[in-house]
Amino acid sequence: MLQIHLNHLGTINVDSLPNQCPVCKSKVSAIQTSVHSKTQSNCVEIAYQCPNEECLSLFIARYEKLQPTPNTINGFFTLIKCVPNNLDKPDIVEEVAELSPQFCEIFTESYQAEKLGMEQICGIGYRKALEFLIKDFCISEHPTEETKIKGKALAKCINDYIDDIRIKQCSTRAAWLGNDEAHYVRKWSDKDIHDLKILIKLCVLWIQSHLLTVSYTSSMART
Ligand SMILES: [Zn+2]
Repeated sequence: MLQIHLNHLGTINVDSLPNQCPVCKSKVSAIQTSVHSKTQSNCVEIAYQCPNEECLSLFIARYEKLQPTPNTINGFFTLIKCVPNNLDKPDIVEEVAELSPQFCEIFTESYQAEKLGMEQICGIGYRKALEFLIKDFCISEHPTEETKIKGKALAKCINDYIDDIRIKQCSTRAAWLGNDEAHYVRKWSDKDIHDLKILIKLCVLWIQSHLLTVSYTSSMART
C-alpha cells in the first residue's frame, strides 16, 4: 500500500503512483506538485510533472475510491487514468508527408480513432485518406489536370492517371476495400480493415519508391 500526502486533504492510501507520462509516454517517476482537488467524495485529482527534460509536461492523475467510505477521504484509492492522454501517431515517410499533408492528417485521425476503439468509423477515415493520397499523387504527376483529377471518382483517377503498375494494383484494391467500409453490405467478406491498412501501406511504399526513383534519375541524369 502506498500513501500520498495532500496538504489539507491529509494522507490517502493508493494502489499505485503514475509511472508513465501520458504526454511523452516515457516511463518516469512523476513529480507530485502541490495542486490537487477532491472533485467528489470518492474522487481525487493530483497534478504531476513529467521529469523528462524534453517533456516537463504537467498532467493529472485521477484516483477513485471504488468502494467509498462515507465522510472520509481516508481509504483505498485506485489510479483510474492520467490525462491528457496523447495518442500515438503513425509513422508516415517524409516523401509522402510532403506530397499529401491532408493524407497524413486524415490517416493519423483514423489511426487514433482505431486506437480508441472506434472500429465502425476508422475504416471510412482510411478510405478518405486513401483518396487524398492517390489524388495528390495523380496531381503531382499530372499538374495540368488538377481540376479534372479533383472532380473525378477515385477509381477513375487510378485508372486514368496512374501508370506505375504497383501503385495501380494496390490502390485499386485499397479502393475496393475502402468502399466496403462505407456500404451496408461487404463485397469482400474475407477481408477487413487490417487488409485495407496493408494495401494503403503498400501504396505509400510504392509512391515513396516512385518519387525517390524520379528524384534520383532526374538529379543524376548524366555521368
Ligand atoms: Zn513526459
